[in-house]
Amino acid sequence: SEMVTVVGAGLAGCEAAWQLAQRGISVRLCEMKPVQHTPAHHSDDFAELVCSNSLRSDELANAAGLLKEELRRLDSLILSCADAHRVEAGGALAVDREAFAAAVTEKIKNHPNIEVVYGEVTEIPEGRVVIASGPLTSDTLFDAIHAKVGGDFLHFYDAAAPIVTAESIDMDSAYEASRYGKGTADYINCPFSREEYEAFWNALTTAEEAPVHGFEDSKVFEGCMPIEVNARRGFDTLRFGILKPIGLPDPKTGKDPYAVLQLRRDNANGTLYNLVGCQTHLKFGEQKRVFSMIPALRNAEFVRYGVMHRNTFLDSPRLLDATYALKVDPRIRFAGQMTGVEGYVESTASGWVAGVATAMDVLGKPMPTLDRLTATGALATYISDHTVAKFQPMNVNFGIIEPLGYKIKGKREKNTKISERALEQIEKLKGEL
Ligand code: FAD
Repeated sequence: SEMVTVVGAGLAGCEAAWQLAQRGISVRLCEMKPVQHTPAHHSDDFAELVCSNSLRSDELANAAGLLKEELRRLDSLILSCADAHRVEAGGALAVDREAFAAAVTEKIKNHPNIEVVYGEVTEIPEGRVVIASGPLTSDTLFDAIHAKVGGDFLHFYDAAAPIVTAESIDMDSAYEASRYGKGTADYINCPFSREEYEAFWNALTTAEEAPVHGFEDSKVFEGCMPIEVNARRGFDTLRFGILKPIGLPDPKTGKDPYAVLQLRRDNANGTLYNLVGCQTHLKFGEQKRVFSMIPALRNAEFVRYGVMHRNTFLDSPRLLDATYALKVDPRIRFAGQMTGVEGYVESTASGWVAGVATAMDVLGKPMPTLDRLTATGALATYISDHTVAKFQPMNVNFGIIEPLGYKIKGKREKNTKISERALEQIEKLKGEL
């Protein structure tokens, strides 16, 4: 039978390959690791989480939580492996990144319908293909895609926060707590006095940044702004943002401190913690100097420094339909971050759609319409909406999902209703498939 090629064994590529294979279709999954790594990928496993280990909220009143529940019901490989390797993180779904990636890799390698081919793909393959080579698509493939679609790819900054070892955190100067005591105490909180904050702010705003490449100049992604850039906006900006102390009283004083840095558990056994919101473009030595001024981190051991990266994505509203197929040549589908969905779970959702839609094409069956009633469909609709003039990568959010059409009191209640409606729609979709 017809063979489908999937390029890239990231979150989107693995999901697409799995959905195809589960429908009886032979898949050739091409991945350049371990022959070659992008600047952000370090492990040899598939589905590597390059930054945070959090897949964000797991609550139905949150759009990211809804998207996850939809994918669970749609038999997503990525979600089932994430659920199997979750670590405690309050209302969020965070995972042990290594165990998670190992589980995905094993499932893919052991599937009888999937053949894994290692090495860089340098041209768009023949036949039906799902291209999911991610935000750091290799240069040669980038050029090949560029030649195919014409027009412009866009680049913008992305930033990752440093990670420290748990044992190097000075717990005499820190305490465990979740904001407002919600959920379990999964965060370690590092308080600042006013004097300590002032010294930190002065150092942070004047520290030396790593050199910037020419192509990285303007497009700063708001949701991932470097902490030093954010800090330069004003003395109190961080205290009203990522260092917000409200709802995190220090047990020593019973009062909220002047400012607080939260550290989030990065792996299942709690040996690593990441500095929440501290994505940065400072030189590594400067990161060590400045973050070590935080009292609880005075002896911190940094296992990874913050870095900034390129991101590659298509101008999808001009190029793709709502099944992520290239309008001018629909044998080619794209999936993942390169389609302008933003985030781990969003990339997974696009991989699901591209995989299932390609399977339907091969099987000669119609693909059910994806509309804005579901989060999965809303993302697909958004990236293919030609009325979106200036396209920027999009996280899932209730703003892109069809409104209820009637009034209901309370944001939480409203969002929960939208989610219930979406999940009913997902059941219908499953029926049609
Ligand atoms: P990836 O997961 O990147 O997978 C692409 C795969 O394709 C890789 O394995 C790569 O090796 C392979 N590949 C590339 N080129 C070729 C080629 N020519 N031939 C063969 N294989 C190839 N999202 C979040 O939700 N939270 C975060 O904290 C977060 N932080 C990020 C930090 C950085 C530095 C970057 C770059 C991105 C971050 N993102 C984050 C976005 C994140 O990359 C995506 O959410 C997600 O990983 C995208 O999944 P994907 O499958 O599209 O791509």
